[in-house]
Amino acid sequence: MRKYVIMGVQGSGKGTQAKMLREAYDLVHISVGDIFRWHVRQHTKLGAQVKRIMAAGELVGDDLVEEVVRRRMGIHDWNYGFIIDGFPRNGRQTEFFMESYDIDAVVHLELPDDEVRRRVLSRRLCSSCGMDYNLIADRPEVEGRCDICGGELITRADDTPEALESRLSDYHEKTRPVLELFRRKEVVHDVDGRASVEEVQSAIRKTLGLPSPRG
Ligand code: AMP
Repeated sequence: MRKYVIMGVQGSGKGTQAKMLREAYDLVHISVGDIFRWHVRQHTKLGAQVKRIMAAGELVGDDLVEEVVRRRMGIHDWNYGFIIDGFPRNGRQTEFFMESYDIDAVVHLELPDDEVRRRVLSRRLCSSCGMDYNLIADRPEVEGRCDICGGELITRADDTPEALESRLSDYHEKTRPVLELFRRKEVVHDVDGRASVEEVQSAIRKTLGLPSPRG
């Protein structure tokens, strides 16, 4: 059983790297942001509660986040382990998390703010299946359309310059201290997020001591 948390500033490649680990090692990928975005797309009551907060690039309240995490973790649908992305993001969430769950390692993807701005402002998302694209590194074959399902590509509501600045300052103020808490108790693996997607993935596998995947 492998139990990981992946952390890093917006645009550092957390989601992409977590999905690659999921595919290679049969892990369950738990992204709190993806859960919220699903609720917004489906117009659920929770979606209505978080839509405006997310669009402004602000953090959703801790009670709501903890409830979502508790419910998601309660499903226990992993045989080989999980990788959590986008949580915990502040001191209180970290305390809740450490009291409730065990993990083996924290992967921390490091990326300078200038590179974050460059990447995030060129990010696009499929409005129908949620697949990520990047107009610099990972362009779709047909402009504005998802390669997988043909859905329309949109800009995430929180990928505007204003929302990004708010998320960056939240990250430095609130999320960085989470790393310090983890460093005291857990094994934090710092990985340089500036390299290519494949290079970052192999650095993660190496530092976690993961074997080459099957097949
Ligand atoms: P992400 O995809 O991880 O960047 O998350 C998108 C948005 O969802 C964030 O900007 C927050 O509004 C909200 N969100 C996701 N995870 C959390 C969390 N752990 N705490 C508070 N808000 C969160």
